[in-house]
Amino acid sequence: MVGVSTNDAAPRRITIDTKRCSGHGRCYTLAPEIFDMDDEGFSVLLIDTVPGDSPLLHDAQTAVDACPERAISMETKA
Ligand code: SF4
Repeated sequence: MVGVSTNDAAPRRITIDTKRCSGHGRCYTLAPEIFDMDDEGFSVLLIDTVPGDSPLLHDAQTAVDACPERAISMETKA
């Protein structure tokens, strides 16, 4: 997990470690604009980049923090 400063306007890249995801569903419940579920309940990304000044950044960070498997990463995009 990478800490996020909402003052930084740099875009963030979101990734899911599919080997860790256990399909708890917290991410797509908390941030349905970013995550969805596949046919088996595992998480898939609807978007993989969030602008640093987007309100979605807060939702993305909430999902990162809520994932019990630590399967979601968010990093500043180079
Ligand atoms: S919260 Fe984590 S473990 Fe649960 S579906 Fe989302 S990525 Fe997978």
